[in-house]
Amino acid sequence: MTKAASMFATIGVAGPPAVPPVRRLGTAVVIGASMAGLLTARVLADHAETVLVVDRDDLSGPRKGVPQSGQAHVLLAAGAEHLERWFPGFVERAVAAGACRVTTARVQIWDDRVPRANGSEVLRLAMTRPFLEELVRRELQAVPNVKISNGRVSGLTFEGAVVSGVQIEDVCEPADFVVDASGRSSKVGDWLEAAGFSKPPMVRVASGVNYSTALFRREPGEVPIGLGMAVTGTTRGGASGGAIFMTVEGDRWMVVQGGYGAFRPGATNQDMVERCLKEYPAPFGRVAENEMLGDVVTYRFPDNRRRDYWACERLPARLAVVGDAAASFNPIYGQGISSAALQAAALSIYLSADPDLDVPAREFFRMQKVVVDAAWAIATSGDAAGDAGAASSLADRVRGWLVGRVVANRHA
Ligand SMILES: Cc1cc2nc3c(=O)[nH]c(=O)nc-3n(C[C@H](O)[C@H](O)[C@H](O)COP(=O)(O)OP(=O)(O)OC[C@H]3O[C@@H](n4cnc5c(N)ncnc54)[C@H](O)[C@@H]3O)c2cc1C
Repeated sequence: MTKAASMFATIGVAGPPAVPPVRRLGTAVVIGASMAGLLTARVLADHAETVLVVDRDDLSGPRKGVPQSGQAHVLLAAGAEHLERWFPGFVERAVAAGACRVTTARVQIWDDRVPRANGSEVLRLAMTRPFLEELVRRELQAVPNVKISNGRVSGLTFEGAVVSGVQIEDVCEPADFVVDASGRSSKVGDWLEAAGFSKPPMVRVASGVNYSTALFRREPGEVPIGLGMAVTGTTRGGASGGAIFMTVEGDRWMVVQGGYGAFRPGATNQDMVERCLKEYPAPFGRVAENEMLGDVVTYRFPDNRRRDYWACERLPARLAVVGDAAASFNPIYGQGISSAALQAAALSIYLSADPDLDVPAREFFRMQKVVVDAAWAIATSGDAAGDAGAASSLADRVRGWLVGRVVANRHA
């Protein structure tokens, strides 16, 4: 086993910590209350007397801070196992609340209307994104030493080479440890540079995947299979695209059409319905004959993006960065939340090892690199070939998404 593989295996263990955690920190602050921030806050609750999670959005409804929230989200094995680890019983509670449990028998795949292999090694749950986030937020709110509050973080404060807190509008909130979970557009690198530290090098690989998503009413028991994936254009040549039909909470179908470059999944309600009926096999294509709930929501994902904190020469102590703020991946593989969960697990290992907190958290960033490298390799392998390569390899991507080892919490 390589060093990276053995590190990955250690991070992936979803059991209780080997040594009961000790609360050595007074206050820990997390910037961002989305999936990465919520999972990280749960980890920090074992190591700090108080954990304050700050988000600029009002979290009660659809929100600007998570523009992808109208798109389909599936939870892969690693994400589900780690949610279960931090919130025992989570998966059962999610299913009881309406999430679709994805099992081999409940997944059907087609290539140009021809049925292919059923099943999935790595998918666990399907649901809408706001539903998942709200469930996790509620679980976290039940942890007594965690507080979630509203506010825009506008900077970090420092004492010498140590992060000493965050600036929330006009108020300075002191902290013994700060975690940035503010997503792809994180400003923390700029704040570090302005304070004389290194700004992490950013690597981008263009992706250009287009999504178009709609919700339809679902009659209970209407289709016994919970999740269908269909790829079109692979055997006929030309632009290829694909669709995912997911049962989600609230007796609804979520239909996602996606494609690369020249393949535009269509932005209107009429496009959505026509294409479902024309391109996709029954019973799934015919879901579009049901009542559409709301309008089609589109999304374009421009690029995979990673910020390599591990490579920074000058980093302050008492700072970690997790989730999309560290790396965000082509969403077709559904790795983002699982990667964030594994990064939270890496933070748990780092803090449990009683590190010297007055030096930069390099051991955490080294572990994070292993997690990010693995997901990055899967997400960028086709994207690096450019749009043409991306379009032609869509079918492989969809299959890759289903069998990806990383997201199944394994590493070669
Ligand atoms: C179209 C699409 C589909 C996807 N599908 C899947 C999927 O199926 N499965 C999966 O696992 N992943 C998926 N992902 C990825 C997933 O959405 C993210 O990886 C995941 O949400 C983790 O993000 P995060 O918490 O790091 O950041 P984000 O979700 O971007 O959240 C950042 C948070 O920080 C807050 N914030 C930002 N700046 C500040 C500030 N200055 N002060 C206070 N708060 C701030 C924001 O309001 C927001 O709440 C998908 C992504 C996209 C784009």
